[in-house]
Amino acid sequence: MLDLLIIGSSAAGASAGIYAARRHLNFKIVTIETGGEVALSGEVGNFPGWGETTGISISQKFQEHLALYDVKPDTGVRITRITVQDDGTFSVIGDAGDKEVTFRTKSIIATTGVHPRKLGVPGEDEFKGKGVTYCTTCDGPLFRDKVVATIGGGNSGLESALMMNEIASKVYLINKYAEFKGEPILIDKVSRSDKIEVVPEALTSEIFGSEFVSGLVYKDKEGKEHKIEVQGVFVHIGVVPNNEFLPEEVEKNEFGEVVVDKYCKTNVPGFFAAGDVTDAYKQIAIASGQGACAALSAVEYLNKLEA
Ligand SMILES: Cc1cc2nc3c(=O)[nH]c(=O)nc-3n(C[C@H](O)[C@H](O)[C@H](O)COP(=O)(O)OP(=O)(O)OC[C@H]3O[C@@H](n4cnc5c(N)ncnc54)[C@H](O)[C@@H]3O)c2cc1C
Repeated sequence: MLDLLIIGSSAAGASAGIYAARRHLNFKIVTIETGGEVALSGEVGNFPGWGETTGISISQKFQEHLALYDVKPDTGVRITRITVQDDGTFSVIGDAGDKEVTFRTKSIIATTGVHPRKLGVPGEDEFKGKGVTYCTTCDGPLFRDKVVATIGGGNSGLESALMMNEIASKVYLINKYAEFKGEPILIDKVSRSDKIEVVPEALTSEIFGSEFVSGLVYKDKEGKEHKIEVQGVFVHIGVVPNNEFLPEEVEKNEFGEVVVDKYCKTNVPGFFAAGDVTDAYKQIAIASGQGACAALSAVEYLNKLEA
């Protein structure tokens, strides 16, 4: 029986692990991999104390910090199911590729983040990895001097278009709404680019090609269809929490995010959550702060169990 199981080992999970190690808890970190969305964050200029850096550097430092306390996350493990036992402890099942793994624990911190939302249009699945991508930071450089489209009107869509502005020959920025929903500084940069063509109030309805993507179809606000030729489609239309393994008792909001209070407690005693999987702002500084907060709450919970 563990005191604590931390699921995920990125900003929130590593931070929770550092605190748990320093409090000498009997705990484990299990995770699919250790980079998370931090490693995909490209250039990062808002993680306090770091100035201008990259997501990869930050994620490496998180793991080095864990290693300082001899904490080595169990990687390659996808948690698939958690059930709350009658005595308030948790039974956890994970898929480790070739075998199933199980854990019993008195408390849990879920830090499993989010994954990109899909468009759900014909051609999207067929051309995934063949021109359709959900990570501009990872795949953008493959589209040097090509014509591409970014779909999305929030910060991540704006950042994608701006990154492709430096790489591609032309960038269509297809936004479902009339206005962008991102930071003014990014909107301003987009409006000053002569390579980015903004297509407002446009709904992407199909992605087509033969072996690779060769174009997409969008509908304007009158419902009229337009075809554009692009070799790359970058989808940035929001995120979906990685929550499929949660016990059914844990409260989620309408977006599937875990509802936590200011101590990162959920409605289930002993079950805590931190980072992007929760109903908080999705930023590295916030995820790492919440990881620390959840670990301290877990310590308090465990102390009360023993008292
Ligand atoms: C393109 C991009 C740019 C960004 N830029 C910035 C920026 O400039 N500044 C900023 O502050 N933030 C930025 N962000 C947001 C930032 O990356 C997130 O806020 C941060 O990664 C959240 O950390 P996390 O620990 O909650 O989740 P993640 O980093 O996503 O980590 C989730 C962890 O959970 C594991 N996991 C998931 N499901 C399971 C499961 N079922 N079982 C076991 N393990 C699981 C994963 O392997 C991973 O280790 C950006 C994000 C993106 C995508």
